[in-house]
Amino acid sequence: MILDVLKNSLGAASQLIPVEALLGNSQGSRMPDVRPTMLTASGAQLAADVCPTAALALERQEGRLHLKLDYGKCIGCGRCLQVAPEIFVPAKQFTWTGASREELIRRWDLQDVRAEIHTLMGRALNIRQLDPGSCNGCEAEISALTNPYYDLERFGIHFVASPKHADMLLVTGPVTRNMAEAVRNTYEAVPEPKLVVAVGACGVSGGLFARSHAVVGPVDAVIPVDGYIPGCPPTPAMLVTGILRVLKTRIGQSRASGDAALASEVLSTALRRPVAPLIPSPEQQT
Ligand code: SF4
Ligand code: SF4
Repeated sequence: MILDVLKNSLGAASQLIPVEALLGNSQGSRMPDVRPTMLTASGAQLAADVCPTAALALERQEGRLHLKLDYGKCIGCGRCLQVAPEIFVPAKQFTWTGASREELIRRWDLQDVRAEIHTLMGRALNIRQLDPGSCNGCEAEISALTNPYYDLERFGIHFVASPKHADMLLVTGPVTRNMAEAVRNTYEAVPEPKLVVAVGACGVSGGLFARSHAVVGPVDAVIPVDGYIPGCPPTPAMLVTGILRVLKTRIGQSRASGDAALASEVLSTALRRPVAPLIPSPEQQT
């Protein structure tokens, strides 16, 4: 019997693991990876506090808070995975090998949305929502931003009633012929420098209604648009991400292009503008 086993074993085709299966395979490494979307300063601090080798640390660079993970110090003890499992997960792929010492260190921005807005704007961001023809699906998601679950106000983003108090226009739906002029007027009423974000497939391209005789076109057929948030409808998370990205891109562009005047205008105008009253007076409304 033993001879049969040996014979079968020797006769079996050898099974080599393909090189491709080895590259980046992190099975058994016990190295942690970070889920950036779940990262919070409190969770990161919790993990840094229990990390025995200080592989995890919170550090401030150029005024921004970061989580630093130094794989060169990590011993794979798994403590971070235990205390903050929503943030730290076992790495599925590990490609930071044969790297320079500096490449073994990864960083994630921990700046929260509120701090982000205040860094960019100097104060809260005021948004005027405009619906020139949507099905109200996008509005349902935008309304969700202010419910207790998302509670956008805590990040320093406010919806205002009058375009005169707004920094940004959030426009949903295709622009219908009846509303085209109102869209232009609203755009004119927003003080410079202003931002416009087209929301939803309809706002971006006309969506389902693109070929309707009652529609002029997407938002950018009527007014200039700074950024687009796709989706039918976009989720609240997509909306927040898009709004922030437009803000960052606009101010970043001003700085990168050396247009210091525009960057400082964006910031100083935002700082100077008075906070909108909860109920604007009739003459403030348009
Ligand atoms: S696995 Fe252990 S050593 Fe590595 S980062 Fe997490 S807590 Fe620190
Ligand atoms: S993008 Fe979709 S949800 Fe939004 S207005 Fe158009 S059809 Fe409605």
